Amino acid sequence: MKKQHIIFTDLDGTLLDHHSYSFAPVVSILDKLQQEGIPVIPNTSKTFAELVEIRGALKLTTPFIVENGAAIYIPTHFFPQQPIGTIEKSGYWLKEFSPRVEHWVGVLDTLQAAFSEEFEHFSRMSVKRISEVTGLSEHDAELAATREYGEPVNWLGDQASKTLFIHALEEAGATPLQGGRFLHVSGYSDKGQALTWLLNEYQKQHPDKQCDSIALGDGQNDVAMLEVASLAIRILSPTTPPPELKRTNKVITSHNFGPTGWAECIEAILFKQ
Ligand SMILES: [Mg+2]
Repeated sequence: MKKQHIIFTDLDGTLLDHHSYSFAPVVSILDKLQQEGIPVIPNTSKTFAELVEIRGALKLTTPFIVENGAAIYIPTHFFPQQPIGTIEKSGYWLKEFSPRVEHWVGVLDTLQAAFSEEFEHFSRMSVKRISEVTGLSEHDAELAATREYGEPVNWLGDQASKTLFIHALEEAGATPLQGGRFLHVSGYSDKGQALTWLLNEYQKQHPDKQCDSIALGDGQNDVAMLEVASLAIRILSPTTPPPELKRTNKVITSHNFGPTGWAECIEAILFKQ
């Protein structure tokens, strides 16, 4: 049976340079993959709005996974059949793994009285305020504010009160995650669960091929996808050690950072004769 490789890749620090966001080192290999019919699926913490811009620049027409596995966007007619469990939305078949952000905003509203003046969150902040707090340009702040599945909270109170706040969120069914700057309030999802679902769908839709997954990532939030992929590629980061994995077989670590390491590994695995 013919083998079909499917590449799942993190963006920041993996396909895109950690500092400059450049993807120049992968341009020619992405072309080559497209000619060979090997799909490259972004699997990222970024939002749908951010992805629409980036995949345009990368010339990708494949499905993509947003907000750390919260949802998969599949261009309609990408597969012969609409996958079971998806809804149609603005030109995509959408598979959701987590309640939408409106649900979490509702939960935060119920906590306003108990924690008044102690937090602010994106849906209730102006673009100008988000830009102030994040240091992003107003354009990028606007894109970052379009999260569909998670709500970033800027905690303004003390640590003891924050612990109570987190507990209240967990009681309400959230899985709050502390990022560098914000407490992200969302349901449980991860990049591995989304990879597995999409790989199964590929296999179902292409029974004549044997599908396998190659995952590439540089960070802690890539561990779940690196653990479940047929082949795990850890991309070296200039700022953090490679993500630690439980698995030891079929794990490769790049010699170069970011997109240069990406091109190095994919070239060696798929195109080296
Ligand atoms: Mg990364």
